[in-house]
Amino acid sequence: MPAYRVCATFLPDGDQHRDLWVRDRRITFEPIDDAEDLVPRGRFVIPGLVDCHVHLTLDFAQSGLPPGSPELVDANLRGHLATGTFILRDMGAVSDATQRLSDEGRPRVHYAGRLLAPPGRYFGVQRDTPSEELVEVATREAKSGARWVKIIADFDESGDLLNGTPNYPQETLAAAVKAAQAEGARVAVHAVSPAGIEAGLAAGVDSIEHGTGISKRQLEEMAARQIVWTPTLVIAPGAAAMSREMGGERAERAVLNGFENARQMVPVAARLGVTILAGTDMCPPGSIWREVVALQASGLEPALALAAASTTARAFLGEPALAEGAPADLVLYERDPRNDPEFLTQPSLIMFRGQLIAT
Ligand SMILES: [Zn+2]
Repeated sequence: MPAYRVCATFLPDGDQHRDLWVRDRRITFEPIDDAEDLVPRGRFVIPGLVDCHVHLTLDFAQSGLPPGSPELVDANLRGHLATGTFILRDMGAVSDATQRLSDEGRPRVHYAGRLLAPPGRYFGVQRDTPSEELVEVATREAKSGARWVKIIADFDESGDLLNGTPNYPQETLAAAVKAAQAEGARVAVHAVSPAGIEAGLAAGVDSIEHGTGISKRQLEEMAARQIVWTPTLVIAPGAAAMSREMGGERAERAVLNGFENARQMVPVAARLGVTILAGTDMCPPGSIWREVVALQASGLEPALALAAASTTARAFLGEPALAEGAPADLVLYERDPRNDPEFLTQPSLIMFRGQLIAT
């Protein structure tokens, strides 16, 4: 197997060229004399992109493949891989197809089990889980090997997300979170309304998904307790359209106002030290660059916005970055994507676990 040398600026925060080598599909910083040079192929390198909020069993690329099918999961994974997105956190499924697919040649998935919500409280894609079953179901999900348990913490049938009400009594949610964590899983909640976010925080969850109506006080609490935030800013137009269908113009406006709040809170969260993760939720595979654009536009520093979709996310998920002995996950760019995240759509070279992938 050939050895390679890469001389590039290490993103997200590097400011000068450094060398790394690839041997036996792993990264090393020990020079290899006869290594093939990958330098002309790119001047900036990241250890692959990470999308921290996807739903691989749903068809947001409109491929026509059946929801929940292994074929759809596989097609979605290939869509991510082709854009240099190597690690995914699946935030709730409609089948166990993802668990059953090997990650040989496919991005690594940190998956939650099913989307848990009470009957009628999440667009029909939820596993109907009444309050009295939540603890038992969350425990079972965690025992089945899911690294995450995903609970829909709030919902509003009229589409006015910010006025959504908690889906579960506080003690029930807290008991379910505790039970899942005791089995070694982490718990993510879909929480949009201030009350839903509050319920999640009080229950001791590990991550707040969307958090559209989040407040500075809640962010302070998250910083102190190391609870992470995935704002999914990129779904604002899609969420607004869904709300319009559910509750007309008023609901649509409420959702757009909510996302405006989230955008204002992103730089506040960063200042407070909250870990911000990039996730695309209902966008097609390979869209993570759009969330980097949105995070930057909301005032997050370019390096932090890119880190949210690469190194910060890897560290949070316990995945190595550009480190000695790490799998050779490398994506190279001719131009600095910190200046314009749209460059993330044009990698000059993708190496996945030491193998070159056509770009
Ligand atoms: Zn989602």
